[in-house]
Amino acid sequence: RTWAESPLPWELLEAVRKVGYAKPTAIQMQAIPIALEMRDCIGIAETGSGKTAAFVLPMLTYVKQLPPLNDETSQDGPYALVLAPSRELALQIEEETKKFASFCQCRSVAVVGGRNAESQAFELRRGCEVVIGTPGRVKDCLEKSYTVLNQCAYLVLDEADRMIDMGFEEIVNWILDQIPSSNLKSENEDQATKEELEAKAGHRKYRITHMFSATMPPAVERLARKYLRAPAYISI
Ligand code: AMP
Repeated sequence: RTWAESPLPWELLEAVRKVGYAKPTAIQMQAIPIALEMRDCIGIAETGSGKTAAFVLPMLTYVKQLPPLNDETSQDGPYALVLAPSRELALQIEEETKKFASFCQCRSVAVVGGRNAESQAFELRRGCEVVIGTPGRVKDCLEKSYTVLNQCAYLVLDEADRMIDMGFEEIVNWILDQIPSSNLKSENEDQATKEELEAKAGHRKYRITHMFSATMPPAVERLARKYLRAPAYISI
């Protein structure tokens, strides 16, 4: 199996080659094509499987087709949001994102506790296409209006089981409920397709949501049922 078989845009294939990932891992082989079709998915995968790049590469593919944020559009917040249970994990995800993001003019910021809140607020206001953070600090930034989620349509919940274990279920629900419906932006999608997809989504909000978890306890199932739209299951 090779990257060449993967439907990633050439800038990111080039990035993957430069970063030195010779072959896609099992989770990357399975998750990337599904994500590029803009389908929701649940990936049962552990750290070490390459799951981060499995969601970061499609996320950047989505972000890169949108215009880079400018002074005006940055007021509507990031295009994509990743939530992770711990500061350490959020920083690791940001590191993995930065490896690839420079190849597609995409800016990312880690919004985590223990880091200077003012500088995070400054970066958010200046404009970051991708925000990666822990639920508590992200909620804090939203409450203080450092950022909003008015145009966020790509969401990743990493280590969902750990987020639940750490008592973040309510905060995660609160954050997801800040995202307006019909937030999917795509140059390739006409209004009719969008309406059709929204109709299929039923009462739920139409956006891309990916969830990764090592296990599927009932609370994670509940989160998935509430926020994912006909998700594909991937287990490696
Ligand atoms: P993760 O499971 O996302 O935490 O990734 C574990 C480690 O594998 C990280 O250090 C990545 O940089 C590395 N990695 C991810 N994908 C690949 C790949 N396709 N080839 C080689 N290393 C990779």
